[in-house]
Amino acid sequence: MKLALIAHDGKKADMVSFVMKRLRFFNRPEIELVATGTTGKMLLDAGIDKIQRVSSGPMGGDAEIGALVTRGKMDAIIFFRDPLDKHPHDVDISMLMRLCDVHNIPLATNQKTAKILISYYDSQLD
Ligand code: PGA
Repeated sequence: MKLALIAHDGKKADMVSFVMKRLRFFNRPEIELVATGTTGKMLLDAGIDKIQRVSSGPMGGDAEIGALVTRGKMDAIIFFRDPLDKHPHDVDISMLMRLCDVHNIPLATNQKTAKILISYYDSQLD
């Protein structure tokens, strides 16, 4: 299954620690990971080396992930948004969220939802 990881700047440290705490799941051979540029770089630096990176979010990375959703090539997204900050690419973020709803793709935008999503998929893959 293909899973996208995206985190706004104020949430990137949370994303790294979220993934590091669940390495057993994220390292499963069935899981393919895609991340926006800077989020992916931070995860690579933390030792998660199986990540495919797309462009950075403000440069179109969310749109690239949206295209994967549209083409039926994305199974779930964890997107730690920072609701307390402004983002130059707000329209791309809205587009990605809309496309997840159009195509019925699970989208976790905070840690608790992401935990529930991961535990569901983990049990499905066992
Ligand atoms: P980034 O993009 O991982 O390249 O920072 C995330 C975003 O801002 O949407």
